[in-house]
Amino acid sequence: MKHIDIVEILAHEHMGKEVVVCGWVRSSRDSKNVAFLSLNDGTSLEHLQVVLDKALLGDVSAYLRLGAAVRVEGTVVDSYAKEGGVEINATAVVVVGECPLEYPLQKKRHTLEYLRTMPQLRLRTNTFNAVFRVRSVLAGALHRFFQERRFAYIHTPLITASDCEGAGEMFRVTTHGFQTPYTDEQAYYENDFFGKRAGLSVSGQMEGEVAAMALGKIYTFGPSFRAEKSNTPRHLAEFWHLEPEVAFAELPDIIELAEGMIKYVIAEVMRLCPAELAFFEQHFEKGLHEKLRNIVESDFVVLDYTDAIELLQKADVEWQYPCDWGCDLQTEHERYITEKVYNRPVFVINYPKEIKSFYMKQNADGKTVAATDLLVPGVGEIIGGSEREANLDKLLEAMQVRGMSIDAYGDYLDLRRFGSCPHGGFGLGFDRLVMYVTGISNIRDVLLYPRTVGNLR
Ligand code: ATP
Ligand code: MN
Repeated sequence: MKHIDIVEILAHEHMGKEVVVCGWVRSSRDSKNVAFLSLNDGTSLEHLQVVLDKALLGDVSAYLRLGAAVRVEGTVVDSYAKEGGVEINATAVVVVGECPLEYPLQKKRHTLEYLRTMPQLRLRTNTFNAVFRVRSVLAGALHRFFQERRFAYIHTPLITASDCEGAGEMFRVTTHGFQTPYTDEQAYYENDFFGKRAGLSVSGQMEGEVAAMALGKIYTFGPSFRAEKSNTPRHLAEFWHLEPEVAFAELPDIIELAEGMIKYVIAEVMRLCPAELAFFEQHFEKGLHEKLRNIVESDFVVLDYTDAIELLQKADVEWQYPCDWGCDLQTEHERYITEKVYNRPVFVINYPKEIKSFYMKQNADGKTVAATDLLVPGVGEIIGGSEREANLDKLLEAMQVRGMSIDAYGDYLDLRRFGSCPHGGFGLGFDRLVMYVTGISNIRDVLLYPRTVGNLR
């Protein structure tokens, strides 16, 4: 069906012309001689008004049904009621797909919780229309950012044999049935599809490093999986993970890259999605524009973990979790630092080695590693990164301390054997970035079908 996108009509591109538009009826109004439709085809947040002349079109009642899919032929004219607006005087209307009265999305504003019960329909609301356009623009902007800087886009495997950090939060991949004849673990795995234990990758970093040690600058962008049962507003079992990895780079280079990336993609959303941001400002986060402008214009804070702990201990707050040196920062701590103390994005750096992964570069103090988390107001951690340990002996030692299998990491260790160099990277939680930019406070509302513990639809 050849037709014109509504966003083009609204941009005055076809004034005075005969056009065909298609879309879904988002509201309608009937009066004596004319009726009005608000039509949306998904290309813009704003609806297009269609004027139906009853003398010309006869009985228009079938065209007015909320949710119906229609095709409209007509002339693009200046809006009668709205200064500077556009509308269509219809000459012919066809109902392409009817929509019965029990359509679950009625005109009133539904809560996000209620809309979660109908993921197949909720994208037809203004909120999700805006979320998904911003999500798409953000993804495109990330690709542009890295492509313009000559990073190679790498596709890392989703099925993996290693579990990255030895953490027990990996989904298993198996073709075994409900019951198997194997009673010992080794036989069980040996007789499985891959002949060994396999899982869904929690991160593309290990393979990303392989690519970076040849191509210099790479990024991956795809799903990662975490079988963590944390039922929070910012954890998914399947999330979108963007992971750059850079050779001949140290921690400050990684921080500079992350800050530049965040500023670039936010500036792009401000340029390309003004209507969506105005919508989020009005309905979800007062001060959103100012927040985003500030991010683009001011420097992020870099704060040593040790200073962060001091800051938390001095704070006049009753912490639920301890905040002594050596403790991992909890959400309450992260939010206090980024929201109350700085009200800006904060890179916390140089964490105690015991609470971070084996592959992070050990600092000269013998106690900390060159790691960084980027904390942002409202969401908390959106980036976790580090310089990687490039020294083979130190890396082996860190693995031994953690009781890890050296054999399982042969490929990874080879990168330190053959032409090792300082390198590093980070992982950005893409869905959390979408939350941050839109002001949507639950991660379940920024994906088509969110996967969380106990929830698979
Ligand atoms: P958190 O402490 O919030 O659970 P993490 O430290 O386990 O996160 P990393 O391994 O550092 O996460 O992953 C890099 C980034 O990926 C995080 O900063 C976050 O933005 C995102 N991320 C990690 N786990 C999840 C998840 N379960 N759902 C959504 N995003 C996630
Ligand atoms: Mn992290």
